[in-house]
Amino acid sequence: MASVNKANTDAEYSYITTYKAANKMTYCTKCWGLGHLRDVCIILTQRCRICLGNFGLNHQCSNVLKCANCQLEHHSLDPRCDVIRRYRTELNKAVNMAICEGKLHRREIPQQQDQPTTFRYNNNDFPVMNTDKIKSNPWNIQNNNSDQ
Ligand SMILES: [Zn+2]
Ligand SMILES: [Zn+2]
Ligand SMILES: [Zn+2]
Repeated sequence: MASVNKANTDAEYSYITTYKAANKMTYCTKCWGLGHLRDVCIILTQRCRICLGNFGLNHQCSNVLKCANCQLEHHSLDPRCDVIRRYRTELNKAVNMAICEGKLHRREIPQQQDQPTTFRYNNNDFPVMNTDKIKSNPWNIQNNNSDQ
């Protein structure tokens, strides 16, 4: 059993790495557009992160925000941007679909196998039907060592 588990863990490690990479947004730090990295950007000059103007030495920023993805007045990577939101949704959808198809596996939190089950109401003769209910009953809480 133990050896099988170890093999699974090794195999899943690569899946987890893929999952992380797939879930990460790809954006360009040159033109601030989504979906590509600056290495492959077709824009020749660095753009200002705020106003998208040519970010040269003489750049005088108007400080008017402009989004490279939807042209509206916010940061290009603003999470409220519709384009960003759609992009993230698509990403999550793709990842979830891959998980459904069994290509990816979310890392499962290892469940504790030996849970503390030793705690019992040994002093009580009547069977405990619902512990929550009993806890909420004040008269039962005060019922310790009453028939001593
Ligand atoms: Zn770019
Ligand atoms: Zn600027
Ligand atoms: Zn936008």
